[in-house]
Order: sequence, then C-alpha cells, then structure tokens
Amino acid sequence: MRFDHETLPQRVRFASRAAAAGLRTEVELLGGLRPMVIADPAARAVAREISAGLPVAHWHDRDGDVVMHVPVAVAERARAAAAEHDVDVVVAVGGGSTTGLAKAVALTSGIPVVAVPTTYAGSEATAVWGLTEDARKTTGTDPRVLPRAVVYDAALTLTLPVGMSVASGLNALAHCVDSMWAPRTDPIDQALAAEGVRALRTGLPLIVKEPEGLDGRERALYGAYLSATAFASAGSGLHHKICHVLGGMFDLPHAQTHAVVLPHVLAFNAPHAPEAERRLAAAFDAPTATAGLALVYDELDPPRALRDLGMPEDGITPAAEAIVAAAPPDNPRAVTLGPVRRLVRAAWEGARP
Ligand code: NAD
Repeated sequence: MRFDHETLPQRVRFASRAAAAGLRTEVELLGGLRPMVIADPAARAVAREISAGLPVAHWHDRDGDVVMHVPVAVAERARAAAAEHDVDVVVAVGGGSTTGLAKAVALTSGIPVVAVPTTYAGSEATAVWGLTEDARKTTGTDPRVLPRAVVYDAALTLTLPVGMSVASGLNALAHCVDSMWAPRTDPIDQALAAEGVRALRTGLPLIVKEPEGLDGRERALYGAYLSATAFASAGSGLHHKICHVLGGMFDLPHAQTHAVVLPHVLAFNAPHAPEAERRLAAAFDAPTATAGLALVYDELDPPRALRDLGMPEDGITPAAEAIVAAAPPDNPRAVTLGPVRRLVRAAWEGARP
C-alpha cells in the first residue's frame, strides 16, 4: 500500500435534539459576536429555534435568499449583507444550497462558517464551492469555504419530505460509489465510502418505513458525512461528471439527477473495477454491487428517469458528447461515445440497468 491522504480540519458534533447547544458552543469557540444566520425558508422555523441563544446580527432567511446552485446575484446579496452587518461568523441551516451560499460568503470574505445540515447532500464536509452565472456553473476548491464546524442533528431533517430524503440520501450514496474509483481515491476514502454505504443502505429504507423516526435519519446523516468526506478527498469520478453535465445543460434538480444516474454508472464501471466491486458488494451485503444497489432501489422507489425530471430526448447525444469530453481520463473503463450515449438513453428512459 502506498498513498497520500489529506484529512480536512473540521470539528463534527453529532447529537439528535442538541443542535442549539452545539451551535452556541461552536459560535463561541470561533469568537463569534455578530453571527449571520443563513437559512433555507423551509428550515426557517428550526433555524430560529436553534439560534435563539446566539447574538444574531442578521437573519438571511427570506424567500429568494437561498437558491439552488448559488446564482452570483444571490451570492452578492449575501456578501453585501455580511459586510453591512459587520458579521464575524456565518451559520448555515439548510441543505446543499444553503451551505453553498455560506461558502460563497466565506470565499470572498474569509468569514468562518458553521454548517447545520438539513439534507444529506454533504456539502458541509467539502472545501468545494459552486456559483452559477448565465446558466453556467463554476466550481472550485478553497480551504476558506470548508465549514470550521458541522452540527448534525437528525431531528432537523424530520420535516424533509420522504421523496426528497430518498433522493438526497441517494446523492450521498453516489458520493460513496463514485469515491471508489475517483481520480484521487485511496484506501482511507474507500473505507469511509464503504461504511457510508452500510449506513445509507440501512438508514434510507428506515426513513421510508418510519419517516418520523430518528433511527433512519441518524444513519442517513452519518452516512452523508462519511460519503462527503470520501468524496472531498477522492474527487469527482465519472458519476459526478455526468451529473454535472446533465444538471448544467438541462437545469435538472441536483439530488434527483444523482438518484437516476447512479445505477447506470455503477453498471457501466463495476465490471471494470474489481476492487471497487468487491468492496461495494460487501458493503451492500449482496452477491454483486449492482444487485445490492438494485435491492436498495426496490425498497426506496426513487426517481428513475431523466425524462421525468425535464430532460428532452434530443439532449441525449449532445449530453453524451459533453460527458465524453469531461470524463476523468483514469476512469476504470474507457469512456467513449457509443456506450455513453446508451447509458444516457437508458437513464433518460428509466430502464433498469
Ligand atoms: P437544497 O439545499 O436545495 O434542498 C433541497 C430541497 O429540500 C429544497 O426544496 C429545500 O427547501 C428543502 N429542504 C431542505 N431542508 C429541509 C427541511 N429540513 N425540511 C423541509 N424541506 C427542506 O438541495 P440539496 O440537494 O441539499 O443540495 C444541492 C445543492 O448543493 C446543489 O447546488 C449542489 O451542487 C450542492 N452540493 C455541493 C456539494 C459540495 O461539495 N460543494 C456537495 C453536494 C451538493
């Protein structure tokens, strides 16, 4: 074994129904005297509840304050508000869109972020930022945007509808699967990803069976953190490149696109990646990785077809061409136009791989 692995510096607090205390401690540790709370309007009530003990200098939680993929104009408004109110800590309460907005503020100001995630997207555990302008998404990596601390409280995800929970959880599962063969993968990433698969494959069906229960939601949140930690280190593999192309070209919803595409990429790569296949099959507790994922999908009834998400049929070929151009050169299987076009068509139709 021979590898270089970078562990990102971040404190993680994980306790259900303890977010208020955890958040207060983290803001104090950062010396925050004038926090700004950015919250998804869907999580506004819980954000106000858990921030009650903070000396909040500015609430950024009105309708339109948080927008998926962080349009530049939305980022500029948040940056201006942070400057106007002399903010010294940004608290983000919401999903990947909310964390993404806090990262945009940190990117230009260096103000530290405390993330309180309410979906399973995992943005809180990466130093990756994203901004959108004129329908083009730009991403980058900068240590300043990595939240200094994450406060996980599964009770905050109880209001996330089951359908969104499933899609978001499969976004996390996709981080795990893709981390097995992504460009910088190493045995530590693969161990984190395998434990992420175990947590998510048991947690997500529990959420479907018992949406009000904490057990499934805790497992999903734990799996989401592991998945994002693996992804942050391993980088974007073929799956993420495909979703990035599709999301950008057709303005598709992030988590649902990941959910649809994942089985097709696994079926494409797994026969050419024996080590990933072995680790994933063991983590799914199934004869093969593909069979294990299929069993999980049968339990969850997730979105299956890109056409249902709004992708037009005549987009299949241009998307396949863009994917071939964007694919990681060291993907386990050569990424050529014919097979990729078949993959995208199958995902568009909702075929079972
Ligand atoms: P999101 O943050 O837009 O949330 C999805 C939906 O869930 C929204 O409608 C939101 O209002 C709702 N919601 C969130 N919390 C809720 C709650 N507690 N109760 C009820 N509803 C709630 O989407 P997402 O899937 O969490 O994140 C997607 C975004 O994050 C994308 O822009 C993606 O690019 C980015 N992302 C970035 C990284 C990274 O490392 N930088 C990683 C993953 C995702």
